[in-house]
Amino acid sequence: MRTIDNLAIAGKRVIMRVDFNVPLNDELKVTDDTRIRGALASINKILASGGSVILMSHLGRPKDSYDEKFSLIHILPNLEKLLDKKVIFANDCISPETVSLAKNLKPGDVMLLENLRFYKEEKAGDRDFAGKLAMLADLYVNDAFGTAHRAHASTSIIADFFPGKKAFGYLIQNELKSMNRVLETPAKPLTAIMGGAKVSDKILILENLLDKVDNLIIGGGMAYTFIKARGGDIGSSLVEEDKLDTAIKILSAASKKNVNVYLPEDDVLADAFDNNANKNVAVSGETPGGWMGLDIGPKTIKSFSDVIMASKTILWNGPMGVFEMSSFQEGTIQIAKAIAKATSKGAFSLIGGGDSVAAINKYDLKEKVSYVSTGGGAMLEYMEGKVLPGIKAINN
Ligand code: AMP
Repeated sequence: MRTIDNLAIAGKRVIMRVDFNVPLNDELKVTDDTRIRGALASINKILASGGSVILMSHLGRPKDSYDEKFSLIHILPNLEKLLDKKVIFANDCISPETVSLAKNLKPGDVMLLENLRFYKEEKAGDRDFAGKLAMLADLYVNDAFGTAHRAHASTSIIADFFPGKKAFGYLIQNELKSMNRVLETPAKPLTAIMGGAKVSDKILILENLLDKVDNLIIGGGMAYTFIKARGGDIGSSLVEEDKLDTAIKILSAASKKNVNVYLPEDDVLADAFDNNANKNVAVSGETPGGWMGLDIGPKTIKSFSDVIMASKTILWNGPMGVFEMSSFQEGTIQIAKAIAKATSKGAFSLIGGGDSVAAINKYDLKEKVSYVSTGGGAMLEYMEGKVLPGIKAINN
């Protein structure tokens, strides 16, 4: 893996794609600076090696032109505070003024370009635009894992202009190391815990994982499609009728590959999709009409936790129930705790995908698992076995 440690940085200008797509409130203040912090290690490495750095990122979804609401200038105070230094802000990405600002950078300087997505050429992966960005610097580093699955100008096309002079930053390096520890060199047994609403979003990842895992735990709303496919009654639980065949195929492929599949044994039922609905617990596959499963039940928590505790490598994607509602969060809490406990006993645990990451943060367990992925879509595509354009562009 070519990382920033392999580059000769002294006296060079490094253009680095980062993911500063942070949430802003109505006053346009940053409400969560995790992603900015994620880039600090790579920025500081460049500065400590005697280079200067030009940071580029997107922010939000502007409509291909300048829109003050999406200006990266709003994150400047946070960046300056975290770096404890002044940052030069360029009002655009490729104008002659910006070129001259870049030319005048001295070792130790940090410059931030305006939002890349003010140019329609960015998402289009335009070669000319990528070439103009490339002209700003001597070296290219990609440290934006969250956009590594996109073939955009700044994430992929630009790398062509830096043969032998490009590398991954530390964030992408850590993401790849963690994912490969699950996909390529897992300590066994390897258990994947899949949850969330939809089977359809997870089919490709399930198929890819079947060749690798020892245990597959399926919870959350997606479990009911499997339970129904096996002939169970699921009341008005979430189901994807057009994926019943797929569910059967996945189950039979798992059995051929000697993968142990664990589905819920019991469910917490509700008579409405409401935190204050009447609740009940019943055996999975015996849900009466008018009731829906919104969480895994106590027996399931116990059996899933036992499998997790006996695992040496754990991948978790997707909550076990409607964890946003306090009445239906117990399954997700207990599974998160079991993962933390297994980790404390030496297992490697990787948490990925928006809602399981949200759950780990909500229950304050971030420090108790091995790695929390920063890239929702990118992580899922990697787990599906796809080659990510942003990764390929550096490896080429
Ligand atoms: P996903 O984005 O597919 O990972 O799904 C996450 C969402 O699935 C969360 O918003 C959960 O509330 C929802 N979810 C989990 N379990 C259930 C369930 N049993 N019924 C309905 N929604 C669920």
